[in-house]
Amino acid sequence: MRLDKYLSETAQCTRSEAKTLLAKGKVTVNGAVCKKGDVQVKEGDAVAVEGRALRYQRFVYLMLNKPEGVVSASTDKRDTTVVDLVGDAYPRRELFPAGRLDKTSTGFVLLTDDGGFAHDILAPKRHVSKTYTVEIDTPLTDEMVEGFAAGVTLADGTALSPAVVEPVSADKCTVRVLLKQGVYHQIKRMFGVYGAGVNKLHRDAIGGLALDPALAPGQWRELSDAEVAKIT
Ligand code: URA
Repeated sequence: MRLDKYLSETAQCTRSEAKTLLAKGKVTVNGAVCKKGDVQVKEGDAVAVEGRALRYQRFVYLMLNKPEGVVSASTDKRDTTVVDLVGDAYPRRELFPAGRLDKTSTGFVLLTDDGGFAHDILAPKRHVSKTYTVEIDTPLTDEMVEGFAAGVTLADGTALSPAVVEPVSADKCTVRVLLKQGVYHQIKRMFGVYGAGVNKLHRDAIGGLALDPALAPGQWRELSDAEVAKIT
């Protein structure tokens, strides 16, 4: 790849900003100053700007702790979106949420610009699980546990695949739900079948990757390759 393209993709700058950095002698390739944008860089080359090493990333993967009131979309006319929360940190990337949480729900949203990966983790056949902590307005019953395990049939006739629900509080109103599907308003509708309402819904994990407890609502961070691998 050309050095100016590599710079604009990794240092998140425009091609003309990259050219200025090069002209000012601020860019090194394998330790030597390089001023030419058309030089080819290959995997393994060490490129740095003002001594700061750049890492080439074909795609980015972010973990975001979605607060209540924010919508799981890239743009929205009215509401703040999960992509708005990332601000202008990646001006040259088209980030989108891989999977949705309702506006009132909170927790782990994965943002990426890797359409293939998003498609894979959302595909029903891949069985990537999602784990939620849910507050319901009536204690969990054996009927709900058994019904979730057998596969709930929603009011509109949609037959869902088996899911796991277990109590996490003594009063059985806080429960953990593990799903391998992503039907619209799925958990609310599943409890609705049993006449139970959902007061709060928080996503704790996607696949084997848990939301980082250090992330306050609205905060996000990049995932390492090892963390991305834990999702699938
Ligand atoms: N199920 C729901 O009902 N809402 C969510 O946000 C996620 C799963």
